[in-house]
Amino acid sequence: MSLLVVGTMAYDSVKTPFGERHLALGGSATYFSMSASFFTKVMLVAVIGDDFAKDHLELLGARGIDMNGVSRLPGCTFHWQGEYGYDLNEAKTLATHLNVLEKFDPNLPESYRGAEYVFLANIDPRLQRKVLDQVKRPRLVACDTMNFWIHSALPELKKTLEMVDILFINEGEARMLANTPNMVKAAREIRSMGPRTLVIKQGEYGALLFHEGEIVSAPAFTLEEVFDPTGAGDTFAGGFMGHVARMGEKELTPALLRQAIVVGSAMASFTVEKFSIDRLKDLERREIAERFRHFKRLTHFEDLTAEA
Ligand code: AMP
Repeated sequence: MSLLVVGTMAYDSVKTPFGERHLALGGSATYFSMSASFFTKVMLVAVIGDDFAKDHLELLGARGIDMNGVSRLPGCTFHWQGEYGYDLNEAKTLATHLNVLEKFDPNLPESYRGAEYVFLANIDPRLQRKVLDQVKRPRLVACDTMNFWIHSALPELKKTLEMVDILFINEGEARMLANTPNMVKAAREIRSMGPRTLVIKQGEYGALLFHEGEIVSAPAFTLEEVFDPTGAGDTFAGGFMGHVARMGEKELTPALLRQAIVVGSAMASFTVEKFSIDRLKDLERREIAERFRHFKRLTHFEDLTAEA
């Protein structure tokens, strides 16, 4: 099944307590599509500048990602500069240079318009809707967002949310969007805005999923070394949506959602092991399956016996 993603392709300058990288390949759509490409056919919609390296396009091409929807405009590629302290859950944005993103006017190639699954990665909610309007009859639409849009474009974001089946959001952003500190109450409030399914990302503590009457919790993988958390959220969503698209089931069953949240966590755990997409680019299917099994062991427990 085909999975379309719109978001940023970026050059990131990132500093963590363990090192720093200047102008490394990043962006919400980059991480998402690299991750999802392990599971399904990905169609990418984004804008790049004339500084975007051929090698980087080749990296995505090597994973079979369709880049007919990537347009190149004169100017520099979107550039994000961020920093993390020892609390790797909290990215501090030092600078955001929109560059060519300011002129981004997505126009989908004909071959993209029949996409069955759509992911609106973190980008201006008006652009998210502009892309969605061009997809004929998607089976499932998911989206991500961030504090910047909650602060600066809430009415536009709410219009997008009305059209979305699944929302992926960080815990802090969920509180901000719902205006309440409690996650169960926040989930109820956010689901009343449109998305039937809500995934709340909790960084190194894992993720919570709310769907109809169900709540599912998945831990993050217990890694000894987390190098750079940039892109963890998008990689998580890529694994989640990639798995859902691959299975192609008519309904989002609780069993499918449970698998998807673990696939997402497994994929994110690879991204944070290295800077940029360095770990994803040479990842093998075998390693993903192995990590999925580790998750099963990590969370498995037996029923209490009658005497206990
Ligand atoms: P995350 O998965 O949340 O860590 O997202 C990381 C990616 O988001 C980075 O590679 C950035 O290039 C990208 N990013 C940062 N700020 C923005 C923004 N305002 N809009 C879209 N993408 C962004």
